[in-house]
Amino acid sequence: MDIFKDNLALMILIVGCASLFVIMIRILWLDGKNVKQQQDFLQRIRNRILEDTTYRIDGSVCSIADFQKVDPFFQSEMVSCLLFDRLQSVQSAWSQQCYDQLRTLVGEKLYRMSEKRLHSLEKIGQKNLITDIEFLGSKILGATYDSETGKEEIEIYFDISCYDYLVSSHSSRIISGSNDQRLRIGYYLVFGRNQKVDQKASWPEHCTNCEHELSSNNTLLCPYCNAMIYPLHYDFRLLEKRVIEEEQLH
Ligand SMILES: [Zn+2]
Repeated sequence: MDIFKDNLALMILIVGCASLFVIMIRILWLDGKNVKQQQDFLQRIRNRILEDTTYRIDGSVCSIADFQKVDPFFQSEMVSCLLFDRLQSVQSAWSQQCYDQLRTLVGEKLYRMSEKRLHSLEKIGQKNLITDIEFLGSKILGATYDSETGKEEIEIYFDISCYDYLVSSHSSRIISGSNDQRLRIGYYLVFGRNQKVDQKASWPEHCTNCEHELSSNNTLLCPYCNAMIYPLHYDFRLLEKRVIEEEQLH
């Protein structure tokens, strides 16, 4: 009987150790796979920065002229400025923990993730400040339109510099990061709007800067004050944000 008991204990021990071993191998394997996937993604984006912008309608590659037929407001230079502006608004809403503002600027999934992170920061009495964002460069990687759903998405790479640091909400003491050493960040961002659901975009009748009446010939810049003219209700939400490059500037 004792021998049987001993054997059983030994068996349980062996099976237990073997299971643990299998689980560990599986975790390591999954970790390795995730790292590999992440590296592949970063490399793919780095390659695309060097390639031409791709335009797609319903999955098929098209020219920018064809794409402008489904989005007559699309103009690379203006869209880059508009989306940079959008990114700044998102970062500002994030820094100030303005949930309502953030909700109008980002997609549902990104909002839920941001809300969770902001809540956990609030719980420990901290704020993540991202300030003095400076534009260094941009590249529109791709633009797609799906005629069935009305979804339009723009993938863009932004090279920016900023201060990024954690402060105590009560004392404003810096906990980590720095407000005098700039950080250079390369972001891969996806912005989207839904042409069928969102309010219809249109050209403004007056310049938002100098309020001068604009002619029907749409130019990118106001002929009176040279300010960039943005279409009204041409509202893109931030759907995805990933850091491709990051370095401390000295
Ligand atoms: Zn003007």
